[in-house]
Parts: sequence; C-alpha cells; structure tokens
Amino acid sequence: MDLPPPEKRPRKSFSLGDNDEILGIRAILSDEFLQEIPLIQAHSCQLETKQQLQAVIQELSQKLPHFQHLKRVQDRDVLICPSSEIDASETLEQYLERFAFSEHVLHALCQGNKLVKVPERMPRLRVQYEKTQQHWPCKFHPNHYSESLRNGTNFTASQRIFHKRMAQLLVKLSRNLNAGRPVGICVDPRTPSIVAIAGSGEAQSPHEHCSMLLVDFVARSQQGGAMDTNLSFAEDLTSSEAILSGLPKSYYDYLTKNDDYKDLNFGAEKSRRNEKMEEVQGDDNLSKFGPYLCTGYDVYLLQEPCLMCSMALVHSRAKRVFFLRPSDNGALATRFQLHSVKELNHHFEVFQFTTNEDDLT
Ligand SMILES: [Zn+2]
Repeated sequence: MDLPPPEKRPRKSFSLGDNDEILGIRAILSDEFLQEIPLIQAHSCQLETKQQLQAVIQELSQKLPHFQHLKRVQDRDVLICPSSEIDASETLEQYLERFAFSEHVLHALCQGNKLVKVPERMPRLRVQYEKTQQHWPCKFHPNHYSESLRNGTNFTASQRIFHKRMAQLLVKLSRNLNAGRPVGICVDPRTPSIVAIAGSGEAQSPHEHCSMLLVDFVARSQQGGAMDTNLSFAEDLTSSEAILSGLPKSYYDYLTKNDDYKDLNFGAEKSRRNEKMEEVQGDDNLSKFGPYLCTGYDVYLLQEPCLMCSMALVHSRAKRVFFLRPSDNGALATRFQLHSVKELNHHFEVFQFTTNEDDLT
C-alpha cells in the first residue's frame, strides 16, 4: 500500500487556555486535491486542414481510445497517444501501422508530429484546472462540495458553532477530568447528540489510546464493547429513548450538572438492526437502520490519532473526524493522510481546528 508522503508541519507546543479562541476549521484534503496535476509526454500531429478533423477523431477514438480526460484537439493539433505506449525500437509511424488506420487518416497522423506535455488526469478543483489549461485543454467537472471544502464554506454558521463548541469541550474535559490527557467525543450529528466520550487512561496500554476506547464505548451503546474497564457508565433514563451506556459517568455527570451544557443532548438512538441484516454501505443507513458502529457519526479528538487509531476509525465507519492538536505520529495530516488511501474500503472526511496560535505562524 503506497501511503502519501508526509506533510511537513512544524511541531509546536500547544496550550489552549479556556479563553483561547478556536478560529476556524480546515478540511485536510488529500494530495489529489492539492497537488498540481502531473504532466505526461504525448505524441501529437498537426492537421493540414480542419476538414480532416472529423475522420481523424473518429478513427482515433476507436483505435487509440486514450486521453478520456482531455480534449483531443487544440486548434489543428491532435493528440495521438502517450509517448510511453511506443517502444524505443519503433517509430510513431511503425506503431500506427499496427492499428489499420485508413490511408488518409494515417497520412494525416504522420504530419507535423511533435511531443507535447499533457495533464495525466482530470483536475479535482478549479485551481488545478486553471493550471492544466496552460498545457493542454482538459475536461473538468466542477464539484461544489469539494470547492467548499477547500475554501471553508462547507459548514453553515450553526454547524461551525457546534463543531467549535465540541473542540472547546475536548480541552475542558481533558484538563478538568483527564489530567490533560487525550479525550474524544463521538456525536450523532443528526440531533446532534453526544453518543460516547472517552479519555485515554494512565496505564497507556497499547490498546488504550483515546480513539480505541471511544470506538469501544460507541459499541457499548449498541450492546457491544470488548474493553475491560473499571469505569462506571451513565444509566439509561426511563424518561428517554436515548442509550447512555457509551458515556462514562464521570463525564456525563460533569456535563449534565454544569449549566453551560444544559442545552446539549446525550445518548445514542436505540439500534434497530437485527442480526440477519447484512451490512450495507452509506451514511444514510444511520437514518434507515439505526446506529451501526460509528456509521454516520462524527468523531472529535483532542489529539490527531495515530495509525492504529485512524484504522480503528476507518473500520468503525466514522463519517467525519475532527481533531485539534497535531501529533508527532499523527496519521491524518502530520505523517500521512490515511483518509486519502484509495485502497481502503471506507473513507471519512478529516478536519482540523485552527487556533490563534496557528495564526501566528
Ligand atoms: Zn492511537
């Protein structure tokens, strides 16, 4: 599995006080959105007249169906094939003879040949598209959501306020209840409602990273959970349908007894899945079938997760992962971007909170 190269990021000491402002939320986009589109070398020809165009394009598209992402023609220049298609031992003409072109098309393809540089793939964002245009005209399907992730307009004002509030909450819970150690919160964004909270313990056994505990506590809210723990958990209220068993009592009591958090909702929806049902992909399954692992859930983490934790979040099908502090061994932005590995069978979106400290760099 090829992992994308690490993003160089200076390590900074981090101390977010209660009054420090979390200013923004930036999407951690994968390299395919951020890097310039690589160029490849291609053979082109120059037609003597535009009348030849139709016949040439028709035969080319049947016999050499390359460059689906490019316009095949620029003025009278026509793309034939990537240079890598042709062996060093043969000429362009010899190569073309293999494809039984009609005589006049073959003749046209062998006129005014030159090597040109063309974009290797279709751009994902407009900024990439504009750069590719300097080389060769490219097809482009603008995606409003991708553009909004890049320019930070993907969240509404009220969503933004809620996300930032969760970030402030992570800082507060870590400081007041977990001796400054990492804390994570899992939220069902539909209500929104806090489904589970976990803080990494003092023991720091390899499996007790915050995200691993959090995934396990979410499972507790679905009659699962495998981790041995001495913690006591909130008990379900008879007055409510919500399942509170993913919430350690210490965190739940702290939040429900504090007037600042009176408006927060707690608990998971009761699972409506039965054992016979097969797992189906997609976020809307949360609405259709009720909770299943972290499907459709958002995860907020004080600390960027390591590779093991990031994989646990992939396996648990988290919808979005938000984190506040970069980690030296972070697997979502610092060391690499696990969410951009195409081979994985689930992909979540990743966001990082930015603070006034980021602003100073
Ligand atoms: Zn970890």
